[in-house]
Amino acid sequence: MAKTLLFGGLTTIHELFIKGAVESLGYSARFLPNPDNTSLAIGREFCNRGMCNPTYYTVGNLVKFLLDESKKGVDVESKYFFVTVGACGPCRFGMYETEYRHALKEAGFKNFKISILNQSELSSEGDFELTPSLMWALVKAVWLADIVRDLGYQLRPYEIEKGSVDEVIEGFKPRIYGALKEGAPVKETILLLKELRKELEKLRFDYTRVKPVVSVIGEFWAHTTESAGNYHIHRWLEEEGAEVRPEPIAGWIDYQLFIEEERIKRDIKVKGFSLDRLKRLLAVKSMAAVFRGLYNLYRSVFSFRPKALPPQKELSELAKPYFDHFVVGGEGHLEVGKHVYNVIHKKAHMVLSVKPFGCMPSTQSDGAQAKVLSDYPESIFISIETSGDSEVNVKSRVQMKLFEAKRAAEKEFYNLLSSLNVSESAFKKAFSSSEPFIKLKGKFAGTAARALYGNQTKLQPYLDFVPEAT
Ligand code: SF4
Repeated sequence: MAKTLLFGGLTTIHELFIKGAVESLGYSARFLPNPDNTSLAIGREFCNRGMCNPTYYTVGNLVKFLLDESKKGVDVESKYFFVTVGACGPCRFGMYETEYRHALKEAGFKNFKISILNQSELSSEGDFELTPSLMWALVKAVWLADIVRDLGYQLRPYEIEKGSVDEVIEGFKPRIYGALKEGAPVKETILLLKELRKELEKLRFDYTRVKPVVSVIGEFWAHTTESAGNYHIHRWLEEEGAEVRPEPIAGWIDYQLFIEEERIKRDIKVKGFSLDRLKRLLAVKSMAAVFRGLYNLYRSVFSFRPKALPPQKELSELAKPYFDHFVVGGEGHLEVGKHVYNVIHKKAHMVLSVKPFGCMPSTQSDGAQAKVLSDYPESIFISIETSGDSEVNVKSRVQMKLFEAKRAAEKEFYNLLSSLNVSESAFKKAFSSSEPFIKLKGKFAGTAARALYGNQTKLQPYLDFVPEAT
């Protein structure tokens, strides 16, 4: 009997869709449950000392699952194998593979097999083969998960019936998973997204709610996970009255391709031109263009509402005064670039940077962020460290910044209202029960302000009647 492939570490929606993609190629796959603080404790018990938090959470989560399965009498070494991403690099990410092997041995699973997907060389080792078809299936799955997740975060804060957006999305997730499992081509996945749009269009939204938009950036795992690993920060912010901008995983892949492209260009400049380098450059450039094209195609189904991927060249230029893009490890220059990008393009009222305990690249970028803040004093920025404990302290610090962001969102909105000479009551009548995909326009961070600016004709029936002078 073929072994079942285990994987984990992203969000539930990404994992479900990735499972579909992997199964379409004939594998049997299962994703791990979300890591919790027991995973952290198990990770600390079996990993080497001095690791960063994501190592403890992810390694501990696998060991926890295997221990639970063993207790049920499952022979885990012959039933499962685990796939993880490996890399060489200056941070502890390069040591994950060793940590997995070490912890598994310590926990009594010395024959448990691990397959490695090598992120920098797009290759694989072990029982799992990264073929071009699998890579394409994975890209579709991850992009779809990014888009649907992003929509959820954009729509939920304005839904009139609480829970309605999640209900529609939850209802569609198994259908998208099923399509990916059947190896559906892009055309079919687009038809499914169109159906999802139709279902969302049946719901009503109150765009008069003036909410602070919070961009969540930071270390890749810490800002992506929706688990105890970051105190469930995305949903918590939403409960606190924010509209959250999560980072898409597509942005991380786009960054990897950008760095690869820059490396090849540097080689051509320093070591000289060769046909091989030219070929590699063209391959990376076309891959990035195709991936971005697919992302935009999926966004187009929802009137481009899911956030666009920021241009990597611009992010690196914005980060340049503070962080060189060849300094890799963690998110490299990205954290700084995204912070400045959010501020100058008014993409969010507040930037929250999530850093895991024990993360060296995060410490470096935090140093640079201090200078960014002195250059952009208008930024509302907070960096938090996730250590598994001190949740109350962290959330209390975030609440204080969120209060500032709320004030900033209100100021932005009421300034616009008065500059357009519109009464609040007319605005409320026009926008308190809207369809989801109304046009959002203007260089404002807030959704209420963008809705108002982009749909001024909607106000006409509600403007006070002024009789003409006779
Ligand atoms: S970026 Fe930081 S948290 Fe992430 S793997 Fe590297 S050291 Fe660990």
